[in-house]
Amino acid sequence: MIYDNNNIFAKIIKGEIPANKIYEDEHILAFKDINPLAPIHVLIIPKFSAISYSDFVKNAPDELLINFFRKIEHIIDLLKVRDSGYRLITNDGDDANQEVKHFHLHLLAGVNLGKII
Ligand code: AMP
Repeated sequence: MIYDNNNIFAKIIKGEIPANKIYEDEHILAFKDINPLAPIHVLIIPKFSAISYSDFVKNAPDELLINFFRKIEHIIDLLKVRDSGYRLITNDGDDANQEVKHFHLHLLAGVNLGKII
């Protein structure tokens, strides 16, 4: 599969469509999910063009990978969920029903989330 430069998250990165942003720097963007499944439901995306988790981990430069995963710690603090807890999920491919083909992590929090499925 080839990365589609016009997927919805690519358009958000380019500023072509709006998003409710909670954090942004030159490499990463975090914004509220339009259809929240928990009181806090934030999507965290790298600005690097990767279709999925595996595409990102295989193909992004090491520096970007480290920066991305470390910056999530900052977002956890911004959201004030470190003590109460949170869940990070990524969907990769058809069996996971990945809808948007730009790698993203869902950060869910703000309520007891129950078992994982
Ligand atoms: P996934 O199924 O893992 O690909 O999740 C895609 C997520 O993107 C869903 O939870 C959608 O609600 C969310 N979503 C789709 N379009 C937008 C948008 N324009 N702004 C914010 N979230 C969106």
